[in-house]
Amino acid sequence: MSDFSADYDRYQSDLSDADFATLAVRAGQVRTQEGEHGEAIFPTSSYVFRSAAEAAARFSGEQEGNVYSRYTNPTVRTFEQRLAALEGGEACVATASGMAAIYAVCMAHLQAGDHLICSRSVFGSTNVLFEKFLRKFNIAISYVDLLDMASWHAAYQDNTRLLFLESPSNPLIEVADLAAISAFARDTNTLLVVDNCFCTPALQRPLSLGADLVIHSATKYIDGQGRCLGGAVVGRRELLEPVVGVLRSAGPTLSPFNAWVFTKGLETLDIRMQAHSRNAQQVAEWLLQHPNVVKVNYAGLPSHPQYELAQRQQSAAGGVLSFEVRGGREQAWQVIDATRMISITANLGDTKTTITHPATTTHGRLTDEQRDAAGIRQSLLRVAVGLESVADIQRDLARGLDALGE
Ligand SMILES: *Cc1c(COP(=O)(O)O)cnc(C)c1O
Repeated sequence: MSDFSADYDRYQSDLSDADFATLAVRAGQVRTQEGEHGEAIFPTSSYVFRSAAEAAARFSGEQEGNVYSRYTNPTVRTFEQRLAALEGGEACVATASGMAAIYAVCMAHLQAGDHLICSRSVFGSTNVLFEKFLRKFNIAISYVDLLDMASWHAAYQDNTRLLFLESPSNPLIEVADLAAISAFARDTNTLLVVDNCFCTPALQRPLSLGADLVIHSATKYIDGQGRCLGGAVVGRRELLEPVVGVLRSAGPTLSPFNAWVFTKGLETLDIRMQAHSRNAQQVAEWLLQHPNVVKVNYAGLPSHPQYELAQRQQSAAGGVLSFEVRGGREQAWQVIDATRMISITANLGDTKTTITHPATTTHGRLTDEQRDAAGIRQSLLRVAVGLESVADIQRDLARGLDALGE
């Protein structure tokens, strides 16, 4: 960022001591001499040099500056700086998708013979990446109960290098004690990597609780409107340098257009996350009193087992909830099929409300025993509450729910 005391440039904003809401709108913007008010997009694959000597200096790294957009791009940098400011991280590196972020962190910080501990319930493709590809390179993986510190301790080995988790978990909305797991990571000299996709920095900042790296699928709430794929890794510069190395060599970097969409998404992230949380809270409370709902999983309900922890750790409970209907798969499917507005899709983090049956979609690859162990019943439905009117969302869910008893 510019040094305003030395040379105040009215084109740029002075953001020293700025609050979250201000950083969300202004961090990372660098105006060109055109004086554009909005953030410019730089859709360029490469850059030109004033002379052969300048080209040589840029390539050798002697002179700072752009060379090629697989390495750096001004639009991507704006997104990275804005997200880093919001997560309270030293730096950020953007990726082509959330999975590219997880892949790059693993490639950068693990090697053959290492061991990784992962919470049992993580995004499906994360599981596939670990099981199908990391194992191929002789990296061992143990799965543990997100809520049980003893299981993390029991899984630890001399070659454990990395701890990976999501909180709240999907689809059961279990809330991990991030400070306690961070302390365990410090004691064991391992890296704690937190996928902060469900909460975003608007609701939860894992780095401030001691996590080493934060992962994002920007595809979800950061875009928030289902337009683009992207991801990011945030943390200390020293931990990001090898991640940048992987991205530059392997290539899953973010496109300038998508970076621009995410940059604009960050400007409304806080108000959207508050609105998603408000709507989800109302839907959760309504479901709780419905006679054909037997259980509601939402961290904003006092009945949630980690309610107190979630109140401390998150500024709101977020947009995703799950619930069990009276009956089994047939009844759960009836509720889905009776909807006329809500989108039937496993996606989440969108202005449009979505509904899915985890046991036969996102968690369909698990065996019945694995699903039972994870507590994902056939009667469970997951709803990512969007920004439609709560009355309309409830009416749509009621169509199937009301009919179940008949
Ligand atoms: C969607 C998702 C990912 C993967 O992100 P993509 O952008 O789809 O690659 C990772 N983690 C969580 C929690 C997700 O929901």
